[in-house]
Amino acid sequence: GILENKVALVTGAGSGIGLAVAQLYAKEGAKVIVSDINEEHGKEAVEKIKSEGGEASFIKADTANAEDVENLVRKTAEIYGKLDIACNNAGIGGEAALTGDYSLDSWRKVLSINLDGVFYGCKYEILEMEKNGGGVIVNMASIHGSVAAPLSSAYTTAKHAVVGLTKNIGAEYGQKGIRCNAVGPGYIDTPLLQELDEDKKELLIGKHPIGRLGTAQEVAELVLFLSSDKSSFITGGYYLIDGGYTAV
Ligand code: NAD
Repeated sequence: GILENKVALVTGAGSGIGLAVAQLYAKEGAKVIVSDINEEHGKEAVEKIKSEGGEASFIKADTANAEDVENLVRKTAEIYGKLDIACNNAGIGGEAALTGDYSLDSWRKVLSINLDGVFYGCKYEILEMEKNGGGVIVNMASIHGSVAAPLSSAYTTAKHAVVGLTKNIGAEYGQKGIRCNAVGPGYIDTPLLQELDEDKKELLIGKHPIGRLGTAQEVAELVLFLSSDKSSFITGGYYLIDGGYTAV
């Protein structure tokens, strides 16, 4: 595999895109730390990876809690000796409301998971990667890192900010052996979307020129590329994987 001898960490790896990324990292030879706030799903993910012949361990962390994230990175290095690759993926959709009606609590919650959580991840991952002479970070943004999601102001704001944070890290750490990129998926068929009724789903599909939702596997393939040495000249970037959504 292309990640042989690498140690990788994925947040929100108990479900959807994060799970697919963790499985693919392991398939490519990395030792994988599966992290999630949901212990049951995280442990199931580890069992799945092991049954597929991979190496993985679970560490519980709420990415909105800086101490949890610091602890997650420290334990990763204790278990597998170092940190080469991190995918800061954990995120939520949050309340659906017009900006004028958006509750202060919902705003805070979405920003704390979808933005603060990514910053905490990057901060502690960078410090660990520096000990190791370098590393790679992939942050999970969204198409809503560049276009609006009506009724989801907090989500759009957080994802745009993740793109900005990613650019800054690219600029700051280019000469220090740490690359950092963001991924911008269109709508992906994961449990995050299972709350939507069929009409809303059809409406979403219609916004993708390819004529369907994406799969977690497709996103994982892009994340793998950006996490591997194949993308050695790519940093500070934001890569769409959106079935043409933002081209229209
Ligand atoms: P999902 O709901 O299937 O999985 C998200 C995982 O994150 C869950 O296992 C959940 O337990 C975990 N999580 C939630 N809050 C957490 C916290 N505070 N700390 C740690 N873990 C937490 O969702 P998904 O569709 O796989 O989404 C993953 C990422 O991809 C998110 O950042 C999301 O914004 C982004 N994304 C999703 C889509 C989509 O259409 N599904 C599109 C673009 C971007």
